[in-house]
Amino acid sequence: WSKETVAVVTGGNRGIGFEITRQLAGHGLTVILTSRDASVGVESTKVLQEGGLDIDCHQLDILDSSSISNFADWLKEKYGGLDILINNAGINFNFGSDNSIENARMVCETNYFGTKRMIEAMLPLMKSSSHCARIVNVSTRLSRLSTKRNKVENEELKAQLSDVENLTEEMIDEMVNKFLQQAEDGTWKEGGWPPSQTDYTVSKLAVNTYTRVMAKKLLERKEEEGKIYINCYCPGWVKTAITGYAGTVTVEEGADTGVWLALLPDQAITGKFFAERREIKF
Ligand code: NDP
Repeated sequence: WSKETVAVVTGGNRGIGFEITRQLAGHGLTVILTSRDASVGVESTKVLQEGGLDIDCHQLDILDSSSISNFADWLKEKYGGLDILINNAGINFNFGSDNSIENARMVCETNYFGTKRMIEAMLPLMKSSSHCARIVNVSTRLSRLSTKRNKVENEELKAQLSDVENLTEEMIDEMVNKFLQQAEDGTWKEGGWPPSQTDYTVSKLAVNTYTRVMAKKLLERKEEEGKIYINCYCPGWVKTAITGYAGTVTVEEGADTGVWLALLPDQAITGKFFAERREIKF
């Protein structure tokens, strides 16, 4: 890896994103720490720069299309594009009793639609000359089709989401919008959605499914456009703000598989789900 390799991390100002930024820069890459609060981003960047790491920073709110497009313009102008995108920014309100429809909307908007927006905005900027173009989506094991503990109880939906060959982006958007509609109507309990941390689980289920759809689409790129591999991973239950620092895993451990996936040698590993550096079932 060299300074020419540019990695972008969303939500890099704290938690797992901050640690991914630190570890990637430790491998000699140029890393852009992004933060929705610009001044917080500058402070977090200073901490890493003082440790001797090559980090740049920029404001980026993945809920805000104009923030994304300002960031994209800046990135293109200053670095000519990027090689690696880590979609780490995410929220979860399910740890209290405050489970409002507004929160459910915000969670899906951020975790799924925001991630998707970032991928759409960054894809044209991913360097065609890159031998290591990678997208890593930070997700969770909670949102697995194969799980027994917090499963999708709607068998039709489960079959649809498992049929990778026929999945489309539109189907994923429809699933999320249907869940939100049922949450608003008060009928979501009959919808067969995962029973625990439902809005968060649905949002990340959408991220996982989108990862599979995009992997298929990206494999169709022509050789001269450059290959881009996309995977998602679960960091474990990490001691960060999102878990009220109640997790069992350190941020260093939580970041590890994400960094490993971002730096995988040029193998065509794409459209897969990982945890602890091993492939797991969707
Ligand atoms: P933190 O709450 O510490 O960090 C979340 C980060 O996302 C913060 O930097 C936050 O910024 C940022 N963020 C939230 N909304 C936006 C937005 N609209 N635009 C840009 N940035 C935003 O939690 P973690 O570090 O634990 O979470 C990182 C990722 O890991 C999330 O996607 C989470 O779902 C996932 N994850 C975490 C697990 C865990 O146990 N901790 C388990 C499984 C998955 P700000 O500081 O401004 O709020």
